[in-house]
Amino acid sequence: MHHFNYQNRELFCEDVPVKVIAKEVGTPFYLYSYATLKRHFLVFSKEFENIEHLVCYSAKANSNLAVLKTFANLGSGLDIVSGGELRKGLESGFSPEKMVYSGVGKRIDEIDFALNKGILMFNIESMEELVIINQRAELCGKRAPVGIRVNPNIDPKTHPYISTGLQKNKFGIDVDEALEAYRAANSIEHIDLVGIGCHIGSQITEINPFREAINSLKNIAQQLEKEGISLQYIDIGGGLGILYDDETPIDLSEYAKSIIETVKGTDYTIILEPGRVFVGNAGILVTKTLYRKSGKVKEFIVVDAGMNDLLRPALYDAFHVIQPVDQTDDPMIVADVVGPICESSDFLAQDRYMPNVKQGQLLAVMSAGAYSFVMSSNYCSRPKVAEVMVKEDSFNVVRTRESYEDLISGESIPLFL
Ligand SMILES: *Cc1c(COP(=O)(O)O)cnc(C)c1O
Repeated sequence: MHHFNYQNRELFCEDVPVKVIAKEVGTPFYLYSYATLKRHFLVFSKEFENIEHLVCYSAKANSNLAVLKTFANLGSGLDIVSGGELRKGLESGFSPEKMVYSGVGKRIDEIDFALNKGILMFNIESMEELVIINQRAELCGKRAPVGIRVNPNIDPKTHPYISTGLQKNKFGIDVDEALEAYRAANSIEHIDLVGIGCHIGSQITEINPFREAINSLKNIAQQLEKEGISLQYIDIGGGLGILYDDETPIDLSEYAKSIIETVKGTDYTIILEPGRVFVGNAGILVTKTLYRKSGKVKEFIVVDAGMNDLLRPALYDAFHVIQPVDQTDDPMIVADVVGPICESSDFLAQDRYMPNVKQGQLLAVMSAGAYSFVMSSNYCSRPKVAEVMVKEDSFNVVRTRESYEDLISGESIPLFL
């Protein structure tokens, strides 16, 4: 469910015509619907209202301050993977006591930052990391709350680049070694063992991998309990898939049920780290048709957004629906929608059944709220695009389009040149 709908054949975001924003802001731009973000959070949280839980929105899916603030205002916690996300989380009003910090490569400065702010839990991914966190805690005069991220060796049946819970993936500590790791960690002086976690992948559309994962975590936690190591948090990670094309996303109630049934009767607080499912369908990318061009074997629609603005098609061969902002009676054609970047992987769609759009016509790349702007780059010296948030009948630029000045700020030419 989202709030991007046609009224009289013209695309609106909530009550604002997309064209109006394009006129004022220029193209390309990302567009987020506040009502959609809010609804996604509330619908999700409601499913877990009867158990002890903390929703920690996964910042890396979309870390625009306005998006973060939307979730902070609703009482969300935050799943962070860097010092930068910690900084942005604080800036947008998240309490550090609701932040969990994952990632295989936490740096010392990032660890110190998190210790000094007093986050809820470090999800550690190696024993070497644990040793460093202990040392830093001692130096900072703090105790470090820690959960071990377990790699449960579960196949989430998703794209290999976003599968994270298999033995061959770099994430977490192997499930067979988890108990040993806890026993070892338990005697480390400045560490408080408070939780156990996993995150098995993203864009998951089957329920069973989640069932297996939560069971696996619970079993380890209960075994530890018997040994006198009692944990408070079970962190099931994120990973829920959304509708991009013709997937059948997991029914939210069924997802919640499988978790609730596994932990009912226990005292654990469940931590959930949804990212994509909150923001994916709450955003679109609006781009303008620059040129039409007929190749020998293909029709091309050349638009002003490229793979530097939206990497997902090039990186994961991801599918995004592309719709005209103004619906017309133009015949349908089969075309590639391509950007201005000098790479053949620079496409938004390939062999797509599309309306025969003309120069100047606006297109909406749908489901572009997650892993979209956040993955954009300045490749080909292209300024990053603007981000806009709509609430009801008004819109706000929540990140200004970068200028040519921005492109060179920070660079310098040494004197010997
Ligand atoms: C990326 C990530 C998430 C969010 O994943 P989604 O598929 O967007 O829900 C949650 N937890 C961790 C540790 C992550 O790295």
